[in-house]
Amino acid sequence: MIRFYNTLSRKKEEFIPIGKVVTMYSCGPTVYNYAHIGNMRAYLFMDSVRRVLKYNGYKLKGVMNITDVGHLLSDGDEGEDKMEKASREQQKTVYEIAEKYTEAFMSDLNKLNIGKPEIIAKATDHISDMIEYVKKLVELGYGYEINDGIYFDISKFPSYGKLSGLDLENQIAGARVDVNDEKRHPADFALWKKASKEHIMQWPSPWGMGYPGWHIECSAMSKKYLGSRFDIHTGGVDHIPVHHENEIEALEGHKTVNYWMHGEFMQVDGGKMSKSLGNTYTVSDLEAKGYSPMVFRYFCLNTHYRKTLNFTFAALDAAKTAYSRLLSAIDEHKNGKAEIPQSKLEKFQRDFIEAINDDINIPLALGVLWNMLKEAHSKQIYELAQKFDAVLGLRLDTVPQAEKVDAPKEVIELAEKRLTARQNKEWAASDALRDEISALGFIIIDKKDGYELKPKA
Ligand code: AMP
Ligand code: ZN
Repeated sequence: MIRFYNTLSRKKEEFIPIGKVVTMYSCGPTVYNYAHIGNMRAYLFMDSVRRVLKYNGYKLKGVMNITDVGHLLSDGDEGEDKMEKASREQQKTVYEIAEKYTEAFMSDLNKLNIGKPEIIAKATDHISDMIEYVKKLVELGYGYEINDGIYFDISKFPSYGKLSGLDLENQIAGARVDVNDEKRHPADFALWKKASKEHIMQWPSPWGMGYPGWHIECSAMSKKYLGSRFDIHTGGVDHIPVHHENEIEALEGHKTVNYWMHGEFMQVDGGKMSKSLGNTYTVSDLEAKGYSPMVFRYFCLNTHYRKTLNFTFAALDAAKTAYSRLLSAIDEHKNGKAEIPQSKLEKFQRDFIEAINDDINIPLALGVLWNMLKEAHSKQIYELAQKFDAVLGLRLDTVPQAEKVDAPKEVIELAEKRLTARQNKEWAASDALRDEISALGFIIIDKKDGYELKPKA
């Protein structure tokens, strides 16, 4: 049995899919900039949900949107479109901006071994679906027109706020909404905005030239591909109060999504990630500093998705060491001859699946893996680790490389001499060489057919 924490009910619930294929919608990126490592944590979370479902034998139909229009600077439907701002600043067309950052995002997904959802839906490819959707909402009496656009009348659904648990007054106080006098209620949100002449992205509609509101995009695209009732909707916790609350409404306020799941945020050095603090790293930034995407993946997987994860370089260093040890420990089992009792292997499998099925407890599942590696070297353990990797996605079949360090020539010469001594079983000479290496400030770690050098801490 799989249990997922449902933001809507605020508890863990047994997962019972509607049909044979699990239907899942994930809010994708707004492609006006490079995705930072916090954003990527959100997609690692999505990936874990998908992998856990597949491990349990489910087939998946996942949809992720690419927002390339309509996400304004303020979630309250005001301010410039993020895409247009980037276009102005970088002197590129909005479409060039969208293409550049979509490509970069896809490359980050690949690097992090995040499986792509079956359908990737670009907002600008679905404008006519959105118009139809808004038309229907207006017909049903949920949408109304004012001077600058079509808005959703939230008073039609008294349950507004049920996802965030905030009452309306708090929502309004909390949101930086510039109250538009013409709106019936300050929290009513734009389904369609009428465009001024200067606005770059605009399309003809029954209400004149304009562009869709951000929230309706996801509602229209999820409905198009997954129907009016689907299993899972994922996103980051920042989406709960406005974006998803509004998506629910625009999905006609019904219980259209059975499980709303949200990933917690990543912080940097205990605080917010922000451009002005210069701490919004990308996956490429980490690579340039010598941390592979798999190290970052390992780092993220060690914290449960519903807990805030604090990013520091010290913690990433620890993850780097641990990941490299993990690969070595697994590799040592590759040609192991020990016979592990079947009952033991089954127990590891049970513990592993129990962990992942309990609201995707990957940190606990990693614990099971580490535990299992303590067994006598056995090919069976190696194979089980590879099986678990279907969920972990850590490329556990990677043959570990001795870490490259810039050791001085004399240290490397001593290390080579020591390797020969060891191969000739000249233990006294080997120990003496270790001391010489140590005196030069390095630690030598013996490997099966080689060694690793590390500067002393
Ligand atoms: P955006 O492109 O701004 O719509 O954000 C893309 C995804 O990243 C959304 O699911 C957000 O919830 C998520 N996100 C944004 N900042 C962070 C962060 N610091 N930590 C984790 N997820 C984040
Ligand atoms: Zn969305």
